[in-house]
Amino acid sequence: MVSAAPLPFRARDDAHLTPDEVGRRYRTLIEQLPLVVYLDELDSVSSNIFTSKQIEPILGYSVDEWAADPELFRRLLHPDDRERVLAAHVHTHETHEPLSLEYRLIARDGRIVHLRDEGVVVLDEHGQPRYLQGYLLDITSQREAEHQLRQLALYDPLTGLANRAFFHERLKHAIKLRHADGEATGLLYIDLDDFKAINDRGGHDLGDEVLREIGGRIEHSVRPGDTAARLGGDEFAVVLTEPVTPDDAVSVAERLLAEIAKPLDSGSGPLYTSASVGIAFGNDDEALLREADIAMYRAKSHSELGYAFFDAQLDRVAVERSQRIAELREGVGHEEFRLDYQAVVDLDRNEITGYEALVRWEHPTLGELPPGEFIPLAEETGLIVALGEWVLREACAEATNLHRLHGRPVHMSVNVSARQLHHPDFFRHVSRALDASALMPNLLTLELTESTLLASDERVARTLQKIKELGVFLALDDFGTGYASLSYLRQFPIDVVKIDRSFTANAGTENGALVLLKGIIDLGHALELNLVAEGIETPEQHTIVRRLGCHQAQGFYFGRPSHPAQRDLDCEPPV
Ligand code: C2E
Ligand code: MG
Ligand code: MG
Repeated sequence: MVSAAPLPFRARDDAHLTPDEVGRRYRTLIEQLPLVVYLDELDSVSSNIFTSKQIEPILGYSVDEWAADPELFRRLLHPDDRERVLAAHVHTHETHEPLSLEYRLIARDGRIVHLRDEGVVVLDEHGQPRYLQGYLLDITSQREAEHQLRQLALYDPLTGLANRAFFHERLKHAIKLRHADGEATGLLYIDLDDFKAINDRGGHDLGDEVLREIGGRIEHSVRPGDTAARLGGDEFAVVLTEPVTPDDAVSVAERLLAEIAKPLDSGSGPLYTSASVGIAFGNDDEALLREADIAMYRAKSHSELGYAFFDAQLDRVAVERSQRIAELREGVGHEEFRLDYQAVVDLDRNEITGYEALVRWEHPTLGELPPGEFIPLAEETGLIVALGEWVLREACAEATNLHRLHGRPVHMSVNVSARQLHHPDFFRHVSRALDASALMPNLLTLELTESTLLASDERVARTLQKIKELGVFLALDDFGTGYASLSYLRQFPIDVVKIDRSFTANAGTENGALVLLKGIIDLGHALELNLVAEGIETPEQHTIVRRLGCHQAQGFYFGRPSHPAQRDLDCEPPV
């Protein structure tokens, strides 16, 4: 195919040589050049007329393959370069201006080859364009060397993380982005504890190995947009690029510390390291680094948590939070909790038909704490699973107890958190509480809020279905306070809707509130749901919800949540 192709040069001056001889000499010359010479048609795919054989070692495709497959060039173009290169070809074909490009082709073995492509449109004796003639120069090693230089300039060779200089750039960039939105940027400064001992014990090879491993762990612990860097020695830093709260920064610090604390495999048994993290927020890169560094030293010397804020106020919040978590863990272990029960009244019959169990923490030093002060923390830490299981058991046992004392069945409502519901053993927790108390399942109602149902998946839906099949009722608590109340009613097998206090509170004084309440109650009737009005505090509110057709109600008007021992069990609600 090569010999059949016309040659790009004409021998005008070598008059004493035959044309064949000239052709042979030029071919030899072309094949000795350290580049690829080509001739392409000026068609839409630049189909190849001639390619010198140097192409084969560069890309792994023979001269014949280039000639036989007009689409080959287009296919081998790196996807990121394809459009630009094809557009440049079209431009040259149309304007006859020279082609001058750099791009990447994918070689047969998958290597990425960087090429410099210079071409000109050759005209015939009448000035008509004939073909594109040019050369390709393999500049891969040059580009790779540049890439390596860039790596060396921006990245730490040991860990592959950003180096100090690059980190500064990223930090400034993050500050600029955040500052425009009026937000502060968060910086975490991480320093390994006792790194010197590792170097002393195992030498620099071991030290390097540890730094490499820790660098990798830090990189994997941060979110994709955040920058992790090695600032030098055993010091690392993370810029939190996304807007974050101090709580978020604590979560990142805790995650980093946990990752760093995992044992390393040193060849001669596990090796343990730990670190200290300083956290600072601000809008000035130099000040941020300084403050995070100061905070890091404070974490090393004072903090049992392993991290500290530069801001002492934030520090106190973090310390208190962590102390509260530790106490909560203790509290769950020592059963420092108690249930109060609030009556649920049937509005037609004007009698107490059941109770809602509400948990309280009898804190050893702070006294009684309401659920709002510890349930969120229990949810975050997962302690709610154990606590919730205890609540279920305790409440079911109390329902059986009340049944005996009242001489008639008493309903029990128990609040359930998202973490509980998502726990794989939740169904077992419910059925065990029922078994242990011998409570009939149709006397138990589980109260779920919209936020509890928010992230429900197939498995949760199946669990709820199984619980329903036992005969247990499901209530949607605080109805109307979320975004998707109605869609939950369709999606889940809900029996009871508890209308949030915010709808009943002003129904007696504001017409708008009354209309809204009536709308919710009408909807409930249409969907054949059992309706419970929450937060009834006054006789007017009582009258309104009864008149509108609510089935049941709850609120201080009928009774505050209290311990059964303090309650007169036979007391009738006020009429
Ligand atoms: P909730 O399930 O909506 O419970 C009703 C809350 O409203 C209770 O607050 C109750 O004391 C209060 N309340 C009742 N009647 C009135 C009234 O007439 N006026 C006013 N202003 N408030 C009234 P509490 O006990 O502080 O509980 C707050 C929330 O904590 C509960 O809201 C529930 O979501 C959660 N909670 C309570 N116990 C548990 C539990 O065992 N597990 C879980 N996961 N959450 C619980
Ligand atoms: Mg409730
Ligand atoms: Mg409620």
